[in-house]
Amino acid sequence: MIRKFLRHIFSRDKPASDPIVKLDIIPRKKHGITRNQINPCALKVTTGLQQAGYSAFIVGGAVRDLMLGLKPKDYDVATNATPEDVRALFRRSRIIGRRFRLVHVMCGSETVEVSTFRGHSPAGSDDDLTAIKDTDKHGRLLRDNIFGSQEEDAVRRDFTINALFYNPANEEILDFLGGYKDIKAKTLRVIGEPIIRYREDPVRMLRAVRLAAKLDMQIEAATAAPIGDLAPLLENLPPARLFDEMLKLLFSGHALACVVDLRARGLHHGLLPMLDVILEQPLGERFITIALRDTDKRIKQEKPVSPGFLFASLLWHEVLAAWKRYQAAGERPLPALFQAMDEILATQHKKLAIPRRYDAVIKEIWVMQPRFEAQVGRKPFRLLAHPRFRAAYDFMLLRCESGEIDHTIGEWWDKFQNADAEKRESMLLKDSASRKRSRGRSHRKSANPDKANLKNVTQDTEN
Ligand code: ATP
Ligand code: MG
Repeated sequence: MIRKFLRHIFSRDKPASDPIVKLDIIPRKKHGITRNQINPCALKVTTGLQQAGYSAFIVGGAVRDLMLGLKPKDYDVATNATPEDVRALFRRSRIIGRRFRLVHVMCGSETVEVSTFRGHSPAGSDDDLTAIKDTDKHGRLLRDNIFGSQEEDAVRRDFTINALFYNPANEEILDFLGGYKDIKAKTLRVIGEPIIRYREDPVRMLRAVRLAAKLDMQIEAATAAPIGDLAPLLENLPPARLFDEMLKLLFSGHALACVVDLRARGLHHGLLPMLDVILEQPLGERFITIALRDTDKRIKQEKPVSPGFLFASLLWHEVLAAWKRYQAAGERPLPALFQAMDEILATQHKKLAIPRRYDAVIKEIWVMQPRFEAQVGRKPFRLLAHPRFRAAYDFMLLRCESGEIDHTIGEWWDKFQNADAEKRESMLLKDSASRKRSRGRSHRKSANPDKANLKNVTQDTEN
């Protein structure tokens, strides 16, 4: 009776049909990936497991990326050995994870992730009452630790293109779900019924957007269709998981394309709650576009990027608006700036889940901004010596580029940094000249506090 009732409840989103599973073995001469393209650590782990009598394959993103001619970001190995078996086989390894237990095997500075084939136990699966305990009321999988066959392991993965198994020993790819064909056609297709798969793990919606941008693929119609409606499910995710996923997205090298797509699909609310508001203000939109494009460029050039810097950029126009509001209400410039920063960060802590550990750097970048406008006395020297100068300077350049502040400020600082001592002295403005000059600079009223206030903050923040 209870069994029947539960089955009734959980059968609402039952798939019309389970994914079609048909093993296709693709030889090297067709797919083109050779053993020597595989990262040595991943090769060592797969070979080690096979020599110990287990089956082991390179799986997921690495196979997909190699097929597309991209350099895999990381390597995953799937095996029928249990985490304990794997741990016993490799001296430098450790078992990690609670929700999903896997083993990290280290070789030198590299780490390969080894997971045991998992069985798939979605909320709606027939007769599998144990699965009920593994999902929350929205259908989200809370645990995923039931071991299974290789075929089941393919089915529980997210997209067909991520479910290919490569065996370095014979250089064959095992394809259970038509992933090879989808890669060739540049189609991103969810495995199984999209609604159930997104309910099980809403992060898959973000992964769809990120992977489509990164791989330049089309999200297949049925895979894309439920995304807008299910976007609120992202709110049920543990904030730390959402944050990790968002960092991956923002630092994917395709952040701008991802954010544009997230917005188009209505997925950005849960992620960056204020993004829609910010993006609707011309200056805010321009600033964020420039900041994201700049981040993408740095990633492609393999330059370092910092989450603090990026969050400072995403929220800057919110801070400017709040700063203006506090001043209009009679607050003095510096306290108004601090109140604005605290207000914006507090909202983000609640919704966006920016961990507090980034607050210090974000605030430092913001609070240094007015100081770039003081080109008088010892002030520029003190600013130049600030440990966070570089980040604040790069941020100021984005403000110039977006048209928020006059581009001559950026040019002045560029020259000042590169000048010798004598030249630097000659560049400094007399106090009154600085005041006059700063008055002449065009600040857009909508986004900025007035000039006199900026000047005050400039002086205050130096103390
Ligand atoms: P990239 O490493 O480029 O971000 P990836 O697909 O390799 O992309 P990983 O997070 O490294 O992403 O995951 C490795 C593999 O694990 C994926 O290819 C996929 O098969 C599986 N996987 C990852 N996340 C999920 C998920 N949320 N649901 C189901 N399977 C997943
Ligand atoms: Mg990967």
